Amino acid sequence: MQQDPDLIARSANELVGDLNPQQAEAVQYRGPALLIGAGAGSGKTRVLTRRIAYILSQFGAWPSQILAITFTNKAAAEMRERLAALIGPVAERMWVSTFHSACVRILRRDGKSIGLDPGFSIYDTADCERLVKLIAADLNIDVKRYTPRAILSRISDYKNNLEGWQDKLREQAPDYRPGQRGYQIGNPGNAEALYAVVYAEYQHRLAAANAVDFDDLIGRTVELLRRDPAVADYYRHKFRYILVDEYQDTNHAQYVLVRELAGVDAAKGAPVPADMPYAGREGQAWITVVGDSDQSIYAFRGADIRNIQDFEQDFPNAKTIMLEQNYRSTQTILDAANAVISNNEGRKPKKLWTALGKGEPIVGYAADNAQQEAAWIAGEIARLHGEEAIAYSDMAVMYRANAQSRSLEEALINAGLPYQLVGGTRFYERREIKDAIAYLQAIVNPADDVNMRRILNVPKRGLGARAEAIVVGYADMNAIPFYAAVERLDSIEGVPTRTANQLRAFRDLMDGLRKFAADPANRPSDIVAEVLSKSGLLDELRKSEDPQDASRVENLSQLQSVAAEFEQNTPDATLAGFLETTALVADSDQLPGEGEDSGKVTLMTLHTAKGLEYPVVFLTGMEQGTFPHSRAMEDASELSEERRLAYVGITRAKRRLYVTRAAVRAQWGQANEMMPSQFLDEIPSDLIDWKRREAGVERMRANWSNGGFDDDEFGGWGDDDFGGTTYGGSTYGSSYGSSESASGSSYGSGTRRFGAGAGSRSRGGSAGGSRSGSAGSNGRSGYGSRSYGSSGSSYGYGSGSGSSSRSGRVTTRRVAPKTGGSASSAAPGAPRDNGLNIADFHVGDRITHDMYGLGTVVDTLDKGAKSVITVDFGSAGTKRLMLNRAPIEKL
Ligand code: ATP
Ligand code: MG
Repeated sequence: MQQDPDLIARSANELVGDLNPQQAEAVQYRGPALLIGAGAGSGKTRVLTRRIAYILSQFGAWPSQILAITFTNKAAAEMRERLAALIGPVAERMWVSTFHSACVRILRRDGKSIGLDPGFSIYDTADCERLVKLIAADLNIDVKRYTPRAILSRISDYKNNLEGWQDKLREQAPDYRPGQRGYQIGNPGNAEALYAVVYAEYQHRLAAANAVDFDDLIGRTVELLRRDPAVADYYRHKFRYILVDEYQDTNHAQYVLVRELAGVDAAKGAPVPADMPYAGREGQAWITVVGDSDQSIYAFRGADIRNIQDFEQDFPNAKTIMLEQNYRSTQTILDAANAVISNNEGRKPKKLWTALGKGEPIVGYAADNAQQEAAWIAGEIARLHGEEAIAYSDMAVMYRANAQSRSLEEALINAGLPYQLVGGTRFYERREIKDAIAYLQAIVNPADDVNMRRILNVPKRGLGARAEAIVVGYADMNAIPFYAAVERLDSIEGVPTRTANQLRAFRDLMDGLRKFAADPANRPSDIVAEVLSKSGLLDELRKSEDPQDASRVENLSQLQSVAAEFEQNTPDATLAGFLETTALVADSDQLPGEGEDSGKVTLMTLHTAKGLEYPVVFLTGMEQGTFPHSRAMEDASELSEERRLAYVGITRAKRRLYVTRAAVRAQWGQANEMMPSQFLDEIPSDLIDWKRREAGVERMRANWSNGGFDDDEFGGWGDDDFGGTTYGGSTYGSSYGSSESASGSSYGSGTRRFGAGAGSRSRGGSAGGSRSGSAGSNGRSGYGSRSYGSSGSSYGYGSGSGSSSRSGRVTTRRVAPKTGGSASSAAPGAPRDNGLNIADFHVGDRITHDMYGLGTVVDTLDKGAKSVITVDFGSAGTKRLMLNRAPIEKL
């Protein structure tokens, strides 16, 4: 095959010379299916990148024959950069993207044969919820009982498993016809039938609106490849090498997509000769996947660990190469990670080692409460920076749920430390941004009812619910899109004159904007500007006295800048192209690029941290109910997933790892006493150097029970061990409050990528909700349980925030609010040492507990005087109890 002239030819030796033998073998392997399975930090991503360069330069493949899939846009951009460094600018012409972006490209080009127009809209979570609400209203569904979120989560499950609405309908509600009016769901208690009907209707309306949701991007591409042999052939001939990173997090639909694109089944009967030096032009494309089943952390989104486990069975002539050397972390960090993950059952043990030496011990800290935990971390960051000259950008603080970021941010602000928060309420989820984008979307795709209806009365122009209902009635009757009905306004009967005038004005506005957008002389940023001014969006905000609206104006101006930036980076930039980038944006996209020193500490969830590495990592909130998350504590498979997340977190650290916890944490407006995370117990104790092992409140209790200050295991606690005197309670303010002038909002806008006033963070109903975790237990109790909406548009998921209303069932104990770990909660009534010995307890033993009643021991952990037993109390839940403090008796 001929070499591309632009290609900087690399010698084989250059591409594998600095790799270890297994890595080099993986880079050079010739065969139809290769799995590179390995532990964290073993160079999987690096090998994948090298392999692409190798395929291009040594197999003689064209860049256009490569499809490389990464988990985030950011990772794709980085891989492209690295490839450009290896092989030159031809890298730009390669498909290196996420599954979703690749599918958008395919559907835009070829979606017609499954009824998708190239200008289709991509609905984010908020749009989808809106659509479900409209459907629920039409079908008289009780949205308190069946929340849009729960319905969407179910629909998402169906789609991730490629279960079509037609099948669901046939099984559950065969008498329903999508688009049918006046249908009443027979027995509202029949949830399955209800889901099937809403699913069918939802797909019907998406199709009518020429729109897709995120899951559809995958599912409909599979549909396209299966339904249109010509299209399938085209891509099978085009992509001869398909490479997928983070394969452990693919779901069933993605698995099938890879299979279809590679033509694995189509090529059956024409066996690939084992000694083929290249993929050739015909037959199955060559697949390379890399992943680590111990890092599978998206089961809640349908990720199926079996995809990686069954790879060898699934793909003919598959080869597996294991990488065993870790190049990222010290032995101490690796030992901790290996010890924690070894508690998961049913996994293949791995031999991961490092040549980097033992390194520093892990540092532990037990704080009295979340504020103190955060203040201690801030103090440590300042110290590392000041005394050890560690750059801020080399440090990352990670947490399980977005809600935890608030206290951390406060402490960093108080300490005057620069930070960047990744995630939280995202720019594209802000109301004003969604409004502006809805206009743009409606311009590109006038059939998009959800967005068209969103902007009908935004800004307010006298077109309220009644006006909307008139138009909807007409549109339904004539089976036409909402905007088509607006265009035929003059044939609608019974429209009050005032309403008719307003509708006419709206139609003229939209027509004018569409003409403006259609003029090739107008670039996306011009169109944004035109929309902002002609729609009245800007005017309305500028006139407002509400200070929040001032920051909304700034956000809108940012949107215009984003469009301008897009134009600079994209030849032939179109409005539709711009909308795509806004639709597929994810948390991780806010991370600084490679080699770019942000000069800031990074704050992010553990989910976002996947694939990344930092010299210094703080794992915070290591408490039962926080991490592992409360909902995982009664479910073995969810607990395993949490443990994999812990493994991901620990293995992000290169040189130093901190683990911190708080004895009291506020959740849903309640101060809860938190037990240390079991993951802390799972780290061999000689690896952790505890700067403070017990929080003040715990120590008081220990003293109470022991009748003295000489706690058995830890010896006497001198005052200087007692970090609380420095950071705790009232003195915390003065030690770290030196930079009070850096007020929340002004500081925030300087450091957060899309920073705006602090106040504009949590608008009601926003999918984020991430920053309001402790704001009170409003109707969000279901939120977070499946996390469908937890990150809205992004696929970078911050995972559910806030614990659900089940916190009473987890191993936390309510204490009076505001005591914040003061001694009072531990004084009279605190349990004394009961003298029980862990040796007397075995799995299966029956015990009785003063509060929870009868229970069965399900686990024991011998830690001397700090031994823990886990007891299943039936309906009272499963509890982890400190053996010598628990009011229990063995039966
Ligand atoms: P994760 O499981 O977290 O995704 P990974 O297996 O993809 O990790 P990489 O991110 O590719 O691992 O590599 C981890 C680190 O080790 C990177 O900094 C990478 O540059 C470095 N590395 C990998 N292989 C080698 C090697 N042969 N020599 C030197 N450094 C290496
Ligand atoms: Mg990787």
